[in-house]
Amino acid sequence: MDLFAKCLQFYPLVDTAKKNGYYPYFIPLNSEPDRRVVIDGRELIMLGSNNYLGLTTHPKVKEAALDAIRKYGTGCTGSRFMNGTLDLHVRLEAELARFYRREDCLVFSTGYQTSLGVVSALVRKGDVVVADKLDHASIMDGCQMSFGTVKRFLHNDPASLEKTLSGIGRETGKLIVVDGVFSVEGDLAPLDHIMTSARRHRARVMVDDAHAVGVVGRHGRGTAEQFGVEDRIDLIMGTFSKSFATIGGYVVGDHKVITFIRHNARPMLFSAAIPPTAAATVLAALEIIRTEPERRARLWKIAHRMIDGLRSMGYDIGKTVTPIIPIHIGEQMKTLLFWRQLYDAGIFANAFVPPGVPPNRSCIRTSYMATHTDEDLDEALEIFERVGRKTGTIP
Ligand code: PMP
Repeated sequence: MDLFAKCLQFYPLVDTAKKNGYYPYFIPLNSEPDRRVVIDGRELIMLGSNNYLGLTTHPKVKEAALDAIRKYGTGCTGSRFMNGTLDLHVRLEAELARFYRREDCLVFSTGYQTSLGVVSALVRKGDVVVADKLDHASIMDGCQMSFGTVKRFLHNDPASLEKTLSGIGRETGKLIVVDGVFSVEGDLAPLDHIMTSARRHRARVMVDDAHAVGVVGRHGRGTAEQFGVEDRIDLIMGTFSKSFATIGGYVVGDHKVITFIRHNARPMLFSAAIPPTAAATVLAALEIIRTEPERRARLWKIAHRMIDGLRSMGYDIGKTVTPIIPIHIGEQMKTLLFWRQLYDAGIFANAFVPPGVPPNRSCIRTSYMATHTDEDLDEALEIFERVGRKTGTIP
């Protein structure tokens, strides 16, 4: 059998979707990824971005990135471990550790590599990693890359977690890993319950706060802050690709643990460092997160308005409590067709179909940013109502 046979078999799937106009992936934007975007010369309301605080276009953030290019050039051309560490990275790690009030921080090149690196470095043969069934792919890939045993518990179900932990030997090393905000559902991990179970079973806990940093918690320190467990959680990881408006990832925790990860996380050791522009962008964004809480407040006002608006129209938006609002459709083709109708009507949103979600759990993921205006939201709600009725998605 030719190795490429699977490619030839796969191709018509994509080709047919493109020809029939319901291929929602790799669409090039001709503008900045802000509240409105330009695609093919047409302006759409952007409801498919993770730019939660709208900082990708903030003048101070852009200026910081430009200054970094002037001083350090365009790239680091090597691993943090060898030649790729700038004083800027060191300052960034110190600032992130200070923000989280933790001893240490390690910066990676993406959030994906962070989960991959932390889980695979810490979980060794004989250890067990305990993951929520809806954890992000980067965590699950980190589990696969580790040589430990992987056990999964039912989504956000403390009883299922407790049962899973009870089945593991007391002397076995255990790492519980959960998303803080689940990236498609928009619900929060019950960190208070998780920490109680972890203590009872002597398990360590890591939270992936990719969608929570800058957004959740009074100061934007994420789900651990929200649940009042910051002093108990072992590791918090996050990404720079959402509220921090660039690319990269990080993990914060105790100095000795971070030192171990710094010397053992292969996705960091064997990959180049984030460029100076990214490090400078995060430093500037962090300052804005600290000093402009009104952005977070605005984002939450928008989230509540959209949750209420979509739910009252009759959409099934699940259990979201955040600016991530999924519209559950179920069937894959129906979801793609609904996506297309929204797109034609002027909304850019993301279509999630298997394998990104479980079978028959296809949905349109919408997400919001602090820079959306009331007019953007009025127009979006009007489109959702019109398209929802026309397609029979709502009564
Ligand atoms: N964790 C979660 C929960 C995510 O949603 C994402 C990105 N979608 C990542 C990790 C990976 O982050 P990055 O884009 O920086 O690789």
